Amino acid sequence: MIDVGLYVHVPFCPRKCGYCDFYSITPGGSLVADYVDAVVTELEAVLADGRLCVETIFVGGGTPSFLPESSLARLMGCLAQVYRTHHPSEFSVEANPASLTSEKAVLLRQAGVNRISLGAQSFVCAELETLDRLHRPEDIVAGVELVRRTGFEHLNLDLIFGIPGQTLDTWNRSLNAAIELGPDHVACYGLTYEPDTPLTRRRDSGQVVPVDEELDTAMYLRAIDCLAEAGFQQYEIGNFARPEGQCRHNLRYWRSQPGIGVGPAAASYLNGCRWRNIVSVEEYTARIRAGQDTAVEIECLDPLDRAGEAAMLRLRMTDGIRCEEFRALTGYDPHVLFADAIQNHVRTGLLTVDHDRIVLTRKGLPLADAVIRDFLKPTGP
Ligand code: SF4
Repeated sequence: MIDVGLYVHVPFCPRKCGYCDFYSITPGGSLVADYVDAVVTELEAVLADGRLCVETIFVGGGTPSFLPESSLARLMGCLAQVYRTHHPSEFSVEANPASLTSEKAVLLRQAGVNRISLGAQSFVCAELETLDRLHRPEDIVAGVELVRRTGFEHLNLDLIFGIPGQTLDTWNRSLNAAIELGPDHVACYGLTYEPDTPLTRRRDSGQVVPVDEELDTAMYLRAIDCLAEAGFQQYEIGNFARPEGQCRHNLRYWRSQPGIGVGPAAASYLNGCRWRNIVSVEEYTARIRAGQDTAVEIECLDPLDRAGEAAMLRLRMTDGIRCEEFRALTGYDPHVLFADAIQNHVRTGLLTVDHDRIVLTRKGLPLADAVIRDFLKPTGP
């Protein structure tokens, strides 16, 4: 048996947010019903031979809570069966404060969901509007009350910093409002300007002005300090949890543990190979219906690439690369494999190294992407 994290991608949203480059569309016609039929078929096929043991379930998107109740019930019926058979330690669903109704919340809870991840993003109306979000701050509060009332054990709130027009003061307000609602997990993401998104076009035409780099860094460091003061431990670049609140599904990913994705655009990683499903709901449902393979971009990594990827993922975590564990996982000594990158970034104070660990420093955390890039291409052995 192979332990896996199971990811289910729900590619529908009521409206596309201007900054988003995830695969999601606004549905029409019979697309949602066809999609659910296809996902259920794929799920049953993936688990049919009994080789996989589902350790965690994560339903993300898109906006899973936007599915009509009947479709959500059908999807959850299938996942409840997985839950009862495999006894995963975590069953997470992403929800949007505007679309999580009490009926849907009960449906999720009855299926075994024990963790809700709520896309709060900001507690400031103007910032939510800039992000094209459909909810208002009071919807977040109502959503959290609903999550509590329905009895979910774990709650994450997503927040975004670096929103055009955001100040350190409004960021503080969002952080404090989130903490006050009592989640056991907070995820803070810096806004990025992805190619070909409406937000990037608005930036390029001067309609929005990005926050400057210095303020962006100050906001990130403020999140680290503010959440630490409130009892949250940072365990990944953008993820903070109270004791027992860490997201087990994402931990598996950062530890390079196997994962299976179902649904259009969902990624999988198993036996050193990775692939994703075709990035089109229509094509995905057509292929499933015809009994054809949905996997594209299949890539089997050689041992050196696997080591580079494992290092990159581990560096995202605040306990960094544990050298002994890394050797056991990849067969390589990280001090030898990444000698140049380590030397360069220790010299500039972005990394610190002790006998068993290679870790980003506080100065290195805001510049993590640049540091991590240098670990993707090992220079040794
Ligand atoms: S709700 Fe999330 S997935 Fe949907 S468009 Fe907005 S950012 Fe993208």
